[in-house]
Amino acid sequence: MINPRIENKPASSKKDETLILDDLNFTPQGKRISELEDFLIQNNEPKYRATQIFEGLYKHRYKNWDEFTNLPIQLRTKLKLISEFQEMKVSHHLVSVDGTQKFSFEIAPGKEIEAVWIPSGDGDRKTICISSQVGCTLNCSFCATGTLKFQGNLKTWQILNQVLTVENLVGDRATNIVFMGMGEPMHNYKEVIRAAEILNHPKAFHLGAKRITISTAGVVPSILQFIEEKQPYNFAISLNQSDPNTRSEIMDINKKFPLNELILAAKKFVDVLDRTITFEYVMIPDKNMTDDHIIAMARIASRVGKCKFNVIPLNTSFHGWRTPSSEEIEKFVAKLKIKTRVPIMNRRSPGKEIGGACGMLALERKEVQA
Ligand code: SAH
Repeated sequence: MINPRIENKPASSKKDETLILDDLNFTPQGKRISELEDFLIQNNEPKYRATQIFEGLYKHRYKNWDEFTNLPIQLRTKLKLISEFQEMKVSHHLVSVDGTQKFSFEIAPGKEIEAVWIPSGDGDRKTICISSQVGCTLNCSFCATGTLKFQGNLKTWQILNQVLTVENLVGDRATNIVFMGMGEPMHNYKEVIRAAEILNHPKAFHLGAKRITISTAGVVPSILQFIEEKQPYNFAISLNQSDPNTRSEIMDINKKFPLNELILAAKKFVDVLDRTITFEYVMIPDKNMTDDHIIAMARIASRVGKCKFNVIPLNTSFHGWRTPSSEEIEKFVAKLKIKTRVPIMNRRSPGKEIGGACGMLALERKEVQA
């Protein structure tokens, strides 16, 4: 009944002790079918059970081994001994008048992350915005998450549990997933890609790859890795400033990977993968919305080729910056359309009053009546 790897290991060295601990903590959640197969083989079980476990987790959404009625009872009893089911507690749940819902999860005492349920259109598009890290190291000057202390990367199961829990509490399924919550997905590349793979897998969430969007502030080496691996997921770059000389003022990461390198990576994405890339652009009056900025955006668009812009009004008020007025947004978007001749999506800001809009995650909570 006991994991043979544990039985056979002499518990003498420190290294072995660490291994034993890891083995005892094995969780089937957030593992690929191939990883579950390895675990089963190591524990003298047939590997075809891996698919049953995988489907149990993500298709049937069982929450503990007792619910896995697709497995023989002896195996369930053994799995209880050699593996662990993890849980993430919802610590806060806020509902906005526009239908947006924000969920805070306690990862560990003092460690919280957030996910947001965003219905849009005529209710036929339902997006969950998920977090990839606890806090963020990037410190973008307009983003609330940047004000938090960085407290680590999320595991694949913690990324997926946000989707499972939100869908369970809302009583509906998402049509789209965006990695635009807390954190920089490219700084947690392996876990994020594995989560995307499971979201996309026909035996799990079965969401189309184009319905899963991974967004980065511009970690160039990871963008190149994403291209090299031909990852099929939608990809977005948070451009936010088209002037190469002042981008570092609002995004520290530009000091490490300057705009020109970032644009070259975006161009490579389009050329190699023959797909459209999305640029996100937070509109900050007096900072990045002048005619010169628009001309620079048009130049970027023509260099990159297949691309589109998602423009988002600033949702925070750090450094005395403000949200653009509807008039300012309209003018900016109209000019941008003419100059760039690429699609411009004017993203509204759902969930603003519950602190659930872009860049607001981690802002002080305000209880709001549904
Ligand atoms: N680190 C990743 C994902 C998290 S940010 C990235 O930078 O892409 C997700 C999106 O929210 C980004 O496009 C970012 O530019 C936008 N955003 C951040 N703070 C914002 C704010 N205060 N107002 C509006 N959008 C914001």
